[in-house]
Amino acid sequence: MGDKRHEPRPFLGLHFDCCGVYARIYRTAKGDAHAGHCPRCLRPIRVRIGSGGSGQRFFRAR
Ligand SMILES: [Zn+2]
Repeated sequence: MGDKRHEPRPFLGLHFDCCGVYARIYRTAKGDAHAGHCPRCLRPIRVRIGSGGSGQRFFRAR
């Protein structure tokens, strides 16, 4: 379908409750989730795309 390789890589703003810090996590290569880790304790986090369909852009990691 569309060749959109020039678009910026989608990311998600995320607040890590474990360390009280804010960071961005980026969409996976597969495109079905955003994945990353806490910048302080390196705890991995994964947020599925489309769950709930709320269009929410910000999440809290607990
Ligand atoms: Zn942390």
